[in-house]
Amino acid sequence: MQYTKQLEIKYSVDVFVAGGGAAGVAAAVAAARSGKKVFLAEAAGCLGGMGTTGLVPAFAPFSDGVNIVASGIGYEIKQALKNTVPVNSSEWGSRWSTIDAEELKREYDRLLKAEGVDFSFFTSVCDVVCDGRKIDAVILTSKSGMFAVKADIYIDCTGDGDLCALGGGEFEIGDENNCVMPGTLCSLWAYIDDDKIGNDQSEFIEKAYADGVLTYKDRHLPGMYFRRNGMAGGNIGHTFGVNPVDEKSLTESMVWGRQSMTEYEKYYKTYLNGYENMVLCVTAPVLGVRESRRIVCDYTLCFADYMKRAVFDDEIGRYCYPVDIHVMNTDDEEFERFSNEYSIRYGNGESYGIPYRSLVPVSFSNVLVAGRCIGTDRQMQASVRVMPGCFITGQAAGIAAALACETQDVRAIDIPKLQAKLKSLGAYLPNAK
Ligand SMILES: Cc1cc2nc3c(=O)[nH]c(=O)nc-3n(C[C@H](O)[C@H](O)[C@H](O)COP(=O)(O)OP(=O)(O)OC[C@H]3O[C@@H](n4cnc5c(N)ncnc54)[C@H](O)[C@@H]3O)c2cc1C
Repeated sequence: MQYTKQLEIKYSVDVFVAGGGAAGVAAAVAAARSGKKVFLAEAAGCLGGMGTTGLVPAFAPFSDGVNIVASGIGYEIKQALKNTVPVNSSEWGSRWSTIDAEELKREYDRLLKAEGVDFSFFTSVCDVVCDGRKIDAVILTSKSGMFAVKADIYIDCTGDGDLCALGGGEFEIGDENNCVMPGTLCSLWAYIDDDKIGNDQSEFIEKAYADGVLTYKDRHLPGMYFRRNGMAGGNIGHTFGVNPVDEKSLTESMVWGRQSMTEYEKYYKTYLNGYENMVLCVTAPVLGVRESRRIVCDYTLCFADYMKRAVFDDEIGRYCYPVDIHVMNTDDEEFERFSNEYSIRYGNGESYGIPYRSLVPVSFSNVLVAGRCIGTDRQMQASVRVMPGCFITGQAAGIAAALACETQDVRAIDIPKLQAKLKSLGAYLPNAK
């Protein structure tokens, strides 16, 4: 059917940010600190994306073991949180920190308000109006109906690359069959005795499967992340075969994820010490999506760059998390594939560069992308997707957008100027002059 409608232009701003997860928050704050008028639209009822709405229980490392690589806005946010604790005492585990989602939501609210970023919750990008390679306006839908927003520069921080895809931009998704790694419905649990718990939560998966306690043998169990007062965030179970950009598929995964909690509760209570009295407080209101569209950008950050610890002239940050493509099914071979890939770790102080070109979608002249949907191959998506990586690309996109407002051309900015501004924000850029 054909449908036309007259819309109010509710906001005219310098920079529009779609999505308020780790990337969107960093992008909006960075652009606002550069003196730009920013409007951010967030589909959910809070900022933080997967780290809050999705109840993802921990931050991956901000450090490469020597340097704080995710420095700047992301590290500032992490340092402002009082309730985070190291995940465990191993060297690798001590670089992770748990998330108290309520505290993180408040910190994001506070920060955006303090920086003068205008934002609306329950507001989704539902369409894009293009004039050739330039986005002219985005169409949003909210409780008040539909309205338009115009900006000089648009930043896609939706995690799924919605803005670019709705504008007809080029993207890739998943493997050669367009299959993405599974999601997880994250959860929050109480009454766990952390004095009694052991380390390996997946030790009894085979037995539980043989005993019929678990109906499928998923050996890949990220597990429970302990916070305080007997509470833990659950990253347990995998929704195999989910399509993250199809609401019917997401619906099926949510239904399955909620059902699976009763199996996992029985698993923990039956086989593992310290979980005897555990109670499920809540499951997340959205599915935890690890992989979605990858927007095709001027440079595709690739696994070879990971292996050679790449350095780029237009580097906007460096990161170090390993390739973490979760198991695609429950076959033993697939678990071996995951374990081998995830164990390709850097030594202390090592990292790879992220070029500015990986944030510049090939299809547009006034759009940037940040977060888990930047221009990478599949393996690098599975590294840079974690929250510290998203803070790095988010803050770079925010500064770059501010620099590009005058020309409305994201390719016309001065790279040394971008790098100098990022450094003054605290970014880790050891190779920039
Ligand atoms: C189960 C699971 C476990 C994970 N574990 C870890 C971990 O331990 N440590 C770690 O650091 N990372 C972890 N990650 C990865 C990390 O949480 C995400 O990749 C990261 O949060 C992505 O950040 P983002 O800002 O790109 O996207 P998101 O966090 O997904 O934020 C995107 C935001 O955009 C909004 N949005 C989406 N579409 C629209 C639209 N059309 N209009 C308006 N708003 C929109 C969403 O509501 C959301 O708030 C995990 C992810 C999952 C799913």
